[in-house]
Amino acid sequence: MDVVQEITGLTFTLTGTEPYTRKDGRETSLTIWKSNCKKCGREFEIRATANANPNESKAFRVIHCQQHRLTQAQITARWRKAIQRKRRSKNKAASGN
Ligand SMILES: [Zn+2]
Repeated sequence: MDVVQEITGLTFTLTGTEPYTRKDGRETSLTIWKSNCKKCGREFEIRATANANPNESKAFRVIHCQQHRLTQAQITARWRKAIQRKRRSKNKAASGN
């Protein structure tokens, strides 16, 4: 199952799951996804909760390998910009100019 993260444009491929015990003690599982670093193309993995929505889950906002990974603050800042860009282009399309 491949998922394209709409905003970052990265493709995440599901590679497996691993068992995970939540803070409340409940047993659940995490999904493991791989993608390629936006900067160098190297493969990296992320883990997300089993029912995470790729377009909402923070896990899918990571777009770089370990070496090029940004701080959480940088990720958040980029994310905001990407959403603004997206909104702007949507507005443009709607106004017909
Ligand atoms: Zn990289």
